[in-house]
Amino acid sequence: MESDEQILHILTKENFTKEDLVNLLNSDISGRNILYKKAAEVKEKYVGKITYYRGLIEFSNYCSKNCYYCGIRKSNSNTLRYDLNDEEIMSAVKFAHDKNYGSVVLQSGERNDKQFIEKVERLLKKIYQISNGELGVTLSLGEQTKETYKRWQDSGARRYLLRIESTNKELFYKIHPNDEYHNFEKRLEALQTLNDLGYQTGTGVMIGLPHQTIEDLANDLLFFKNNDIDMVGMGPYIEHSDTPMFSEKHLLLPLNERFNLSLKMIAILRILMKDINIAAATALQAIDPIGREKAIKIGANIIMPNITPTENRKNYLLYQNKPCTDEGAEDCTECLEARIYISGDEIGYGKSGDSKHFFSRMKK
Ligand code: SAM
Ligand code: SF4
Repeated sequence: MESDEQILHILTKENFTKEDLVNLLNSDISGRNILYKKAAEVKEKYVGKITYYRGLIEFSNYCSKNCYYCGIRKSNSNTLRYDLNDEEIMSAVKFAHDKNYGSVVLQSGERNDKQFIEKVERLLKKIYQISNGELGVTLSLGEQTKETYKRWQDSGARRYLLRIESTNKELFYKIHPNDEYHNFEKRLEALQTLNDLGYQTGTGVMIGLPHQTIEDLANDLLFFKNNDIDMVGMGPYIEHSDTPMFSEKHLLLPLNERFNLSLKMIAILRILMKDINIAAATALQAIDPIGREKAIKIGANIIMPNITPTENRKNYLLYQNKPCTDEGAEDCTECLEARIYISGDEIGYGKSGDSKHFFSRMKK
């Protein structure tokens, strides 16, 4: 454990070494409060006390992959599969537009077939059309070829979220099968391709994975910094009983410790990368009912209200106790608005909330 003086000393530095990051991640209650205070100040100074909305549409839970941690993995035969049609997806998009959200996220299991690629392309064009290009679109659809990323970009996508999940290659292969569909280098390449194409590029990791060390998390933070990432979405790993990783449940930190570690990761990242966008992951709310608001207070500036049709939400179960699976989009919006104001932020209604870091990176 580090003393308050040591934490204060680290926070005066311009750049953090790996050792500094480990010390910050290991801080005790009083040290972490110093860290949170500093992160809140950095957030206010560099990105303002504004939270941007991204209406999250989980439009299909069909997936061709078998990540060991994920409840909607291909081999989980207990998952009831769904695939929303264009009309259902566009109705959620219109809801976000009418509510002045400024931006939506299209997320699904990973598919690489022609029908899927064309569907996303068609949807992007429709979204552009109904909003005159005003509604920002983030895609979170896994690894695709350069050609597919380009097609989607040409159809209106500006941002892409592809979590590396863990930057420790050994750990990556403990949480994924080691085969041609789950390949660490390919995932890195996909991130590089998105960056080269000019997407606002987002990545992230799960926190509290079995076998993960504090050094791994420090390396994850350095990876975001060294790769000049524009947006980060990271949150606690939460187990699901229908997945292979459930058998390692006994190795996990208690949920509250995974939660605290996630908040520390967010606060440190805000200080390390002052002008990026940082999402308050939904998984935080699965542990603490006001988990996302706590993240907003100490550095996060993006929240993703779930606007997936209510009847489908319970089938997009990545982990157990996923929150808000029985609520409607309208309920989520009202409930969130009050919560954000309580956390002291304004809501960036009508603004697409681009990553400031992306534009400063482009000027370089
Ligand atoms: N299929 C795409 C992909 O994997 O990039 C996008 C959808 S995937 C469900 C989105 C994210 O969910 C993953 O990047 C992963 O980090 C997260 N996730 C999956 N299972 C999880 C779990 N058990 N606990 C926490 N997060 C999980
Ligand atoms: Fe599929 Fe994404 Fe889940 Fe992996 S994390 S199984 S790619 S939905």
